[in-house]
Amino acid sequence: MKYYAKPLGNLITELSRLPGIGGKTAQRLAFHILSMGEKEARALADSIIDAKENMKYCSMCGNLTDRDPCSICTDPARDHSLICVVETPKDVVAMERIREYQGLYHVLHGAISPMEGIGPEDINLKQLIIRLQQEDVKEVILATNPNIEGEATAMYIARLIKPSGITVSRIAHGIPVGGDLEYADEITLLKAVEGRREL
Ligand SMILES: [Zn+2]
Repeated sequence: MKYYAKPLGNLITELSRLPGIGGKTAQRLAFHILSMGEKEARALADSIIDAKENMKYCSMCGNLTDRDPCSICTDPARDHSLICVVETPKDVVAMERIREYQGLYHVLHGAISPMEGIGPEDINLKQLIIRLQQEDVKEVILATNPNIEGEATAMYIARLIKPSGITVSRIAHGIPVGGDLEYADEITLLKAVEGRREL
């Protein structure tokens, strides 16, 4: 970064640490920030600090929130007998976007991966079991990712919960809309067949 004066060089370095931001993009963003008005630039900087200081994980469901318990866990209009288990807070956002689901969530913050040495005790699973013991839950929907780790995690949780009599379901994964059957990988196709329903 020797081509730049130190403050600009620092900004480019910090921006390039962000995921998906290469050197060129970092440079473009830095120059853009410098061209912004003082107020605008300060609002950007403040929003980063504000989010960092005020966002935390909900002690009930593990989702990102600014108050604990979060607004979903405390919403009386939602179905508290239904818990959808996901891997990350981003998955909660994805589920909320479809506006169909009215139950609660549980965020695992990862998935079981023996290859990477991530076991059941390394994800937010204990808290889920505590919730199932304390709350009147009728169904747990396993919405972990449709990859090897996600499937292993779903199988593990299903085996753990089933003896309690709570219904355990797995979301159906299949061919993406606009996708071509011949290009689908084996897991996707297998899940599509498994998740079939009667017409
Ligand atoms: Zn919550």
